Amino acid sequence: MADTGAGYDYDLFVIGAGSGGVRAARMSAANGAKVAIAEERHLGGTCVNVGCVPKKLFTYAAHVPEEIEDAAGYGWTVGAGRFDWKTLVANKNAEIERLNGIYGKLLSNAGVTLYEARATLIDPHTIEVGGERVTAERILIAVGGRPNMPDEPGAELGVTSDEMFFLDELPKRAIVAGGGYIAVEFAGILKGLGVEVVQLYRSSLFLRGFDRDVRLHLAAEMRKKGIDLRFDTIISKTEKQADGSLAATLSDGSVLETDLILYAIGRSAYTEGLGLEAAGVETDRFGAIKVDADYRTSQPNIYALGDVIDRVPLTPVAIGEGMVFAFNTYAGQSRKMDYRDIPSAVFSAPTIGTVGLTEEEAVAEYGEIDVYMSEFRPMKHTLSGNQERALLKLLVDVKTDRVVGLHMVGPDAAEITQGFAVAFRAGATKADFDATVGIHPTSAEEFVTMREATRRATRESAAAE
Ligand code: NDP
Repeated sequence: MADTGAGYDYDLFVIGAGSGGVRAARMSAANGAKVAIAEERHLGGTCVNVGCVPKKLFTYAAHVPEEIEDAAGYGWTVGAGRFDWKTLVANKNAEIERLNGIYGKLLSNAGVTLYEARATLIDPHTIEVGGERVTAERILIAVGGRPNMPDEPGAELGVTSDEMFFLDELPKRAIVAGGGYIAVEFAGILKGLGVEVVQLYRSSLFLRGFDRDVRLHLAAEMRKKGIDLRFDTIISKTEKQADGSLAATLSDGSVLETDLILYAIGRSAYTEGLGLEAAGVETDRFGAIKVDADYRTSQPNIYALGDVIDRVPLTPVAIGEGMVFAFNTYAGQSRKMDYRDIPSAVFSAPTIGTVGLTEEEAVAEYGEIDVYMSEFRPMKHTLSGNQERALLKLLVDVKTDRVVGLHMVGPDAAEITQGFAVAFRAGATKADFDATVGIHPTSAEEFVTMREATRRATRESAAAE
């Protein structure tokens, strides 16, 4: 193999072809670097294969029964539908294969050499990949994360989100353990597809880190849809029964029979067996790779980004980090990733959209906050009879009038929040929101028509709660 002139096979070797790794590889190659990338599973990483993309496709599938029910109020008589899980999985798989192919083409068009094999580090410049040793001036670790499993007896009888996308059969009953993004999203998907769902969360209210009103609203809406939400409850042990079903003993002593247990209790950096020690790359106590603002690890020629570092485990963030790395390293730029005000959505049923601070954070940071809140039945449901309600919430710093938090639970919350996130980053004040003409009739117009504050929150009022 022709070396790079610096005595290495490659200028850059990227381990992991997920969102961050692929973008970094392509952009580095576009800026003149000789680049290789290794992937042991599937191109596109978690997001494309066992994350955002198939999850979103499943949420569309899960929403169909509600649409059919809603249709009656609009005069439609729709016959009883029949759902075929295998068709959904097969169609989803075909779409993911198409995306895998696109990722492969993007890499080859960019001149990046692809190794479809596991890569491990031998020393700071040497990688073993598919039985071969190659060298690189710089190495970028973008191997992402993997779901955590608990250690209670019988935990191995459960599955993680990885397996959920390929189940042979849709279970009749399921327990979802956990109270984060993945748990609430799958609880909604399974319920929508007709599964009896019990969701367990270890503390008093799920979605820690989100605004409290949002968490309460979502919990109420999920319960209305028939999800059996149980807080302050975990599984203590699970046993397989003679008929193949599972018996989960809960922390309150009760026993729940179910057909599937999904553990969605967080994810950790996928660094095991990667050779980090041999290469001199340090991790924190949770196993995430430690990096500086330029994504440089403790070994100066080795970098890391995406879910394997301890920042924000979201695809658009990994892509942003990949761009910063590539342009700073190979185009002489000095970009910085801005982690403030990253909008995000939880594709729960109904969806959450959020940008900026929660009420609790806003009060702690600014002292006095005007809270504008609107809770209503979306117009679509006036005729459909659907009891789902939406929540919109704005948090305004009293001193500057700046909107410092924007939250929504309801139909299209993700789409709506993405648009408002631009105004948010531009530093929009409540007066700017008020001066914006609404689009009528929409749910989003509520954000620009909330005239009276619902309450003023202060450090004192927060402390008194
Ligand atoms: P999260 O960190 O969001 O949630 C983990 C959940 O598991 C929390 O409720 C946590 O409780 C609970 N938990 C942790 N450890 C245990 C334990 N030992 N026993 C019982 N419960 C436990 O992780 P996810 O796996 O749901 O998602 C990982 C990340 O992926 C997210 O943080 C998000 O950044 C990203 N993601 C984004 C999505 C999106 O943008 N829509 C969708 C899916 C994932 P506690 O709060 O008490 O610690």
